[in-house]
Amino acid sequence: MNIIIFGPPGAGKGTQSERLQSNYELAHLSTGDMLRAEIKRESDLGLTLKSIIESGALVPDETMIKLIELRISQPDCDNGFILDGFPRTVAQAKALDVMMQEQSKSIDHVVVLKVNEDILLERILKRAAESGGARADDNADTLKKRLAVYNEQTAPILPYYQEKALLREIDGMADIDDVTAQISKVLDNKAAA
Ligand code: AMP
Repeated sequence: MNIIIFGPPGAGKGTQSERLQSNYELAHLSTGDMLRAEIKRESDLGLTLKSIIESGALVPDETMIKLIELRISQPDCDNGFILDGFPRTVAQAKALDVMMQEQSKSIDHVVVLKVNEDILLERILKRAAESGGARADDNADTLKKRLAVYNEQTAPILPYYQEKALLREIDGMADIDDVTAQISKVLDNKAAA
C-alpha cells in the first residue's frame, strides 16, 4: 500500500506518518527530513537548500522529483510507503504518476489532514518552543509564507487527486489518537476490499 499524507504545515503529517510507519510497516518518506539531512552534511547543495527552506519557498520541482524517484525504488519501499511532503506542486504530482507507472506501482490513498490556519500557527509555535528552535522555518513570519505557498502551489493538487477518486479527508483538529484512528479506518477498508 502506497499513500500520500497531505496537508498544510503543522497539520500533523510527520506525527501521523511515524505512527502509520510502525502500524503498517510502510517506509516513511519525508522530503523535509531528507532536505534537512542534506543541509546537515553542509554540502554545496545543502547551502542552497538551506536558504530556500528558511525563506519558506519551495525547492525546485526537478530536484524533488529526482530525489523521490531514487528513493521509491529502494528495497525498503517494496512493502509500501508514505509520502510526507511530496508532491507539493501539480508538476510533482504528474511526475509521480509517471515514475509510479514506470515502477509498476500505484497510489492507493491521498489522506488530507484538514486543520484551520489559526490552529496551525499555534502548533508551529509550540513545536518551535519544544524543539528549542530546531527548525529555522518554524516561526510566525515564515509560516505565513509557507501557508501562502501551500494555498497557491500545493492545494491545487487536490482536484487532481479528487478526479482520480483518491482523496480521503480527515479531521486533523481531533486529538492525535483520534486522527490516527480515522486514518487507519480508511487504510483498513481498502485492505479489506
Ligand atoms: P516540511 O518538513 O515538509 O514542512 O518541508 C520543509 C521545507 O522543505 C518546505 O517548506 C520546502 O521549502 C521544502 N520542501 C519539502 N518538500 C518539498 C517538495 N516536495 N517540494 C518543494 N520543496 C519541498
